[in-house]
Amino acid sequence: MKVIELINPSKILRVYCYTPISKPLNGSIPRSNTSHFLRLCPVEYTYKNGKEEKIAKTETYLIKGIRGAVRHQVMKLCHSHGLEVCHTSDKETDKHGNQLLPKGFHLIGSCKNTDECIIHQVFGSKRSTSLISVYADPITSINHATARISQNLQNVQIATEHRMVQSYDGNSIQDFGERYFSGEFYFEIDVTQCEKSQLGMLIEAIMNLHKLGGGFNSGYGHIRIQKFQLLYRSIARNPEWDGDGFIVKETVKEKVRKKEVLTSLKSWKEYLKESSKCN
Ligand SMILES: [Zn+2]
Repeated sequence: MKVIELINPSKILRVYCYTPISKPLNGSIPRSNTSHFLRLCPVEYTYKNGKEEKIAKTETYLIKGIRGAVRHQVMKLCHSHGLEVCHTSDKETDKHGNQLLPKGFHLIGSCKNTDECIIHQVFGSKRSTSLISVYADPITSINHATARISQNLQNVQIATEHRMVQSYDGNSIQDFGERYFSGEFYFEIDVTQCEKSQLGMLIEAIMNLHKLGGGFNSGYGHIRIQKFQLLYRSIARNPEWDGDGFIVKETVKEKVRKKEVLTSLKSWKEYLKESSKCN
């Protein structure tokens, strides 16, 4: 049967990074003092033991907080260019009267009906949809060099770090464990709905992204962006009869765009110039 194109091409910003140690933790495991990643379903894979093919299972986890990290970097970027944009807070003060809203920001979503800021356009708020979606393939840790996995997984080092809080005389007061991962990974932002200036803003923020998860000031969660690509991705889905039902066969085609990255950055610079004229 002929392949049918079912989906229009989507625009994807694919970002390749490296982290020596990151802890985007989800919460503690019940009845334990260890914080953990968000655990997903175990995935089977095959590997070779001599000539023998063997099957094993690997645990998979979600890298949480990528969207938040990108958003914070975009906030910082806009702030440094003198744009007033949405903060992540929807309250001006906490219950003790402490200021939650730094200078140069407005409450999240408060700009929607007046002069919608570029962060609100792209990231939305509670009652308004975001233009982008952020996705990363789950991470896992497989040591077999011959491993063959059919699912899209990212192989990194995952381990538990045991920590101790000590008093001055060296006795431990509290000990706890935290899971971390280390290595190269990638994530994607679907930017199909973004205008050029919005895409340019995201690209500049991505290039400066350096923080993920907790403990940054103690040396954790430093990330380095190694490379990014703007991809046009089209997916064709084709039904294939297997005697019982139709298997959905996917054919993915990707094209790398170079010029659009440069024109988007230019368009973002123009946007900044226009907004500084208005102020
Ligand atoms: Zn806003």
